[in-house]
Amino acid sequence: SCGLVWLRRDLRVSDHAALHQALKHCQRVHVVFVFDTEILDALPRTDRRVEFIRESLVEVDVQLRELAGHPQAGLIVRHGVAQDKIVKLAQHLQAQAVFANHDDEPLALARDIQVRGHLADHGIVLHTFKDHVVFERNEVLTQMAKPFSVFTPYKNAWLKKVTPEDLQAFDVAPLTKRLAPRPDDLAHPVPSLQAIGFEPTNLKALKIPTGESGAQALLQDFLTRIDQYEDTRNFPAVKGPSYLSVHLRFGTVSIRQLAREAHPRMLAGSTGASVWLSELIWRDFYVQVLHNFAHVGHGQSFKPDYNAIHWEHGPHAHKLFDAWCEARTGYPLVDAAMRQLNQTGYMHNRLRMVVASFLVKDLGIDWRWGEKYFATHLNDFDLSANNGGWQWASSSGCDAQPYFRIFNPISQSEKFDPEGKFIRRYVPELAALSTKDLHAPWLTKPLELQAAEVVIGKTYPYPIVDHAEAREKTLERYAVVKKKP
Ligand code: FAD
Repeated sequence: SCGLVWLRRDLRVSDHAALHQALKHCQRVHVVFVFDTEILDALPRTDRRVEFIRESLVEVDVQLRELAGHPQAGLIVRHGVAQDKIVKLAQHLQAQAVFANHDDEPLALARDIQVRGHLADHGIVLHTFKDHVVFERNEVLTQMAKPFSVFTPYKNAWLKKVTPEDLQAFDVAPLTKRLAPRPDDLAHPVPSLQAIGFEPTNLKALKIPTGESGAQALLQDFLTRIDQYEDTRNFPAVKGPSYLSVHLRFGTVSIRQLAREAHPRMLAGSTGASVWLSELIWRDFYVQVLHNFAHVGHGQSFKPDYNAIHWEHGPHAHKLFDAWCEARTGYPLVDAAMRQLNQTGYMHNRLRMVVASFLVKDLGIDWRWGEKYFATHLNDFDLSANNGGWQWASSSGCDAQPYFRIFNPISQSEKFDPEGKFIRRYVPELAALSTKDLHAPWLTKPLELQAAEVVIGKTYPYPIVDHAEAREKTLERYAVVKKKP
């Protein structure tokens, strides 16, 4: 029998649920990735994520040949509407079944329903598997068999449920001789970016490692620091986190492997490993929120009351939003963070919280605008985590911070970039200011500004809002959601 493995957000060959199942059940296995024009057409022509995917596929292609021990057993790559391409390819290869891993985003689910139907018309079965998270959908429920909407009890239930079997790798090694050579008409190398209508980005200049080998290098490096994670993770100038998010997003690393590293370290008493595992559990948490509370994936607040909030609108709101996007808010930490995002596609978690809070609670802009901006600019953009993060910051989400908790962008800056290293890296025009003045340059004495060659309003903007006034306005804005006594 012949099986076709369809890669989507799982661009690796190790510890891969769908590949494991296909090799187990089929004599002949092919692997395909489709550059789906329904997704790609909406993207700018230079998109780091497309280059990340392309580079990672080149590695998959090499790995498949090596595993099969056959130079023609490489990856099949198609370009077009995925629904059509998969059905045609499965027919062409005379496959009896297509194997894929779950993708629970609304558009992916709709696509899979179509593909399943079209394949069935030709007598071909679509088998799908959990792979992207440790626990999915309804696997972790409350005692009342309801989905969790608060993180800590979810995490406790997750930790109680997890067993070594849940984290076991899906071994593909013993059966790789079943990886079949591609027919001649499909034996093409992975297409160049240009061939799929894209242009190279600064991915390589940024030294963002791609593919499984890239993820493993980042993981090995992180494991030397994991015990310090709790102490370092909040400081954007420090190499504290793992930088694995883009790899988790595209599945160039297995979540089970990461949990296999973190869980025993936690049990052995490492607080760093315990806090990091918690972050991986937050990821599972938001994926199940998207599944169980599907309205959040359709632009709705998790808490319906919050849909009544009246956000700033009109030309003034657009001016404020543009200043935020273009790192011209006059708050150095916010601007440094937005430059990190615009230049690299990554933003440190602490800064995501700071800029999201600033947009929503200092500028009064609808969180959906920020969510959308992040969605186009983050290398690791993931609907569930991004929506969860924005709804956390805007207080509309499940287990979000209370609406009256409003980050002060100056004290956040003093606390989490105490030496101003991060600000100086991304806002060099302020670098010569003293560290004390760097966090709120408009309060600096004229002589000191002059000595640092900073002219507020000219070389660096005035703050676009006054934080204390903005805070008052926000409390009024959120009055509609105050619980009635
Ligand atoms: P590490 O600190 O090493 O964490 C390890 C992994 O845990 C991450 O790679 C990620 O997969 C997961 N994780 C960590 N924090 C969270 C979290 N709060 N929610 C869900 N998963 C988490 N993360 C994304 O992967 N994609 C997004 O689109 C995204 N958007 C966000 C938007 C906002 C407004 C906020 C506040 C957070 C967002 N996050 C998002 C969560 C978090 O900021 C990133 O996962 C993290 O900064 C990635 O860096 P890292 O891999 O070095 O993280």
